[in-house]
Amino acid sequence: MFQNTKDSKTKLSELGEFGLIDHLTQFFKVKQISTVKSIGDDAAVLNHDKFTVVTTDLLVEGVHFDLAYMPLKHLGYKAVMVNLSDIYAMNAQAEQITVSIACSNRFTVEALEELYSGITAAAELYNVDVVGGDTTSAVKGITISITALGQAKKEDITYRSGAKPNDLLVVSGDLGGAFLGLKVLQRENEVFKVNPNAQPELEKYTYIVERQLKPEARKDIVELLKALGVKPTSMIDISDGLSSELMHLCKNSKVGANLFEDKLPLDPMSISTCEEFELDSTTVVLNGGEDYELLFTIDQSDFDKIKANPNLTVIGHMAEQSEGIHLISRMNTKIPIKARGWNGMEDED
Ligand code: ADP
Ligand code: MG
Repeated sequence: MFQNTKDSKTKLSELGEFGLIDHLTQFFKVKQISTVKSIGDDAAVLNHDKFTVVTTDLLVEGVHFDLAYMPLKHLGYKAVMVNLSDIYAMNAQAEQITVSIACSNRFTVEALEELYSGITAAAELYNVDVVGGDTTSAVKGITISITALGQAKKEDITYRSGAKPNDLLVVSGDLGGAFLGLKVLQRENEVFKVNPNAQPELEKYTYIVERQLKPEARKDIVELLKALGVKPTSMIDISDGLSSELMHLCKNSKVGANLFEDKLPLDPMSISTCEEFELDSTTVVLNGGEDYELLFTIDQSDFDKIKANPNLTVIGHMAEQSEGIHLISRMNTKIPIKARGWNGMEDED
């Protein structure tokens, strides 16, 4: 559906491994003072004066993404976001990433340039240095592994384990959009397979398609909480859907939770797209992943500091572990929350 390799002709073998690495990494500039030595030696050298926070994600073609509806530039951008989001979820700031790629000879130099243009855009916008990586051939497809490093003061680091009963449960942004964007892209791809001349109709769905193809990690929320003087008691990023992330917080903090259906934040476009696809919007919010928003808990005494902020919504509160984890529906019934499959939505993994 998207033409990733429009003017692609240069075979990877024409540049060789070293030529390729030089070619792809030539425009990376060092911005962080903690980066002592970047690409070009056997290892990068960093000087973190606070605690170092590290995370890695692996993205495999056909498992985590489909190039039929994921342009390579977006894939590069998203691969970075997925990692930065995990650093921000620790209430830390990201400063470096490494990028490792294994790809088959089906990919051209131009295709990898596209991928790297997305990685570069993300690194620039989020002010992280690309300090290394590895490049190798693969028999089939493309696999991308990114590692992100960040730092934070010991006392600022926020774990999944700090929530207490009666803490407020807060989420940034809105939920469900990325899943619905994927639904739209999959539908358009099916149309395209039948009729390759059909132009994908995506204009109507710009916001949710962007949520899927170009997610933004919430660096701004970490900065906002700092400015508001709020330290979350626990935090996690939403990669798999609200219900499973909430269960992680509850399990790690040994608490229960009550989530209020009427408080769940949805964009109007998400609501109308749910209607179009005949999906229950609550199910989509609970089980649809990849929104990369932050889910966190705060002490009730911090409520006044966050209540007026349009980026933050209080969606529930924590409870004693023995009370369990429930959704309080609009009809005021208590529905137990399971990690996946709530209300019959199938797990596609
Ligand atoms: P080595 O053989 O010692 O692993 P490489 O030739 O693989 O060294 O890499 C040379 C330099 O280029 C190193 O600094 C490495 O981190 C960096 N590098 C290799 N591949 C990538 C990549 N895909 N993206 C960014 N940096 C890379
Ligand atoms: Mg190497």
